[in-house]
Amino acid sequence: MITLKNIEKVYRTSSIETLALTNINLDIRPGEFISIMGPSGCGKSTLMNLMGLLDAPSQGNVEIGGQAVTHYRDKELAQLRNQKIGFIFQSFHLINDLSVLDNVEIPLLYRKGDSTGLSRRELAKQALERVGLSNRMKHFPNQLSGGQKQRVAIARAIVGRPDIILADEPTGNLDSAMGNEIMAILQQLNADGSTIVMVTHDESMAKKTHRLVRLFDGSMVGDSVLQTV
Ligand code: ADP
Ligand code: ADP
Repeated sequence: MITLKNIEKVYRTSSIETLALTNINLDIRPGEFISIMGPSGCGKSTLMNLMGLLDAPSQGNVEIGGQAVTHYRDKELAQLRNQKIGFIFQSFHLINDLSVLDNVEIPLLYRKGDSTGLSRRELAKQALERVGLSNRMKHFPNQLSGGQKQRVAIARAIVGRPDIILADEPTGNLDSAMGNEIMAILQQLNADGSTIVMVTHDESMAKKTHRLVRLFDGSMVGDSVLQTV
């Protein structure tokens, strides 16, 4: 579903070069739920940005769903990203002056049509049902608890029915009860077919996934199967 081949990423500013990732080879199969761990600065966000087609590698190839994207133009990348990938962040990234329902509809505004024939509103309602928030559709983000905000963000990530969910520390701002709730939702989405890549600092969350990749100083230093898919 996501293949990274011989990836190297160097950040160049006028005076400094930072080797953020080197020699990364990773093949994420459809239906896998994989966690990425490693200390601050080891390259986790850089890796997520490459998998999310938000940034390009300095060397090597990224493939999404079997398509090599190396020579894609920005417009093609944006289109593929919008079709295939949903993003979840630690700090939710909701728009505070839009209702829950309007927040969830945002990714659909960039789409021409939908094969389901359902309206944006209907699709957003369905996504909110999947995360158990149908009773908060008219609320605004600052009227919700942290766990509820993250559920809105998950609904927004899945509303376009992406194959892949990229979650960067989705439970990092939540207490353990809400973190477990969010994790249970991600596990359900995975059971329903989504491929999920999650960055986490929490070993107990990582243990619930199929596979754990460890990064250190830009290199992959571990790749272990925890459960078979
Ligand atoms: P992590 O997410 O694991 O904390 P990052 O991927 O953010 O790590 O960063 C990896 C390395 O790349 C770090 O040394 C960081 O300082 C550097 N880095 C990240 N983003 C940039 C950037 N835009 N410009 C220059 N250096 C960067
Ligand atoms: P939790 O105890 O799970 O952190 P909160 O105490 O923040 O949740 O909120 C409890 C309930 O009250 C939530 O369902 C939330 O939707 C609602 N709520 C919280 N703050 C507000 C607010 N400012 N306006 C309206 N509803 C709110």
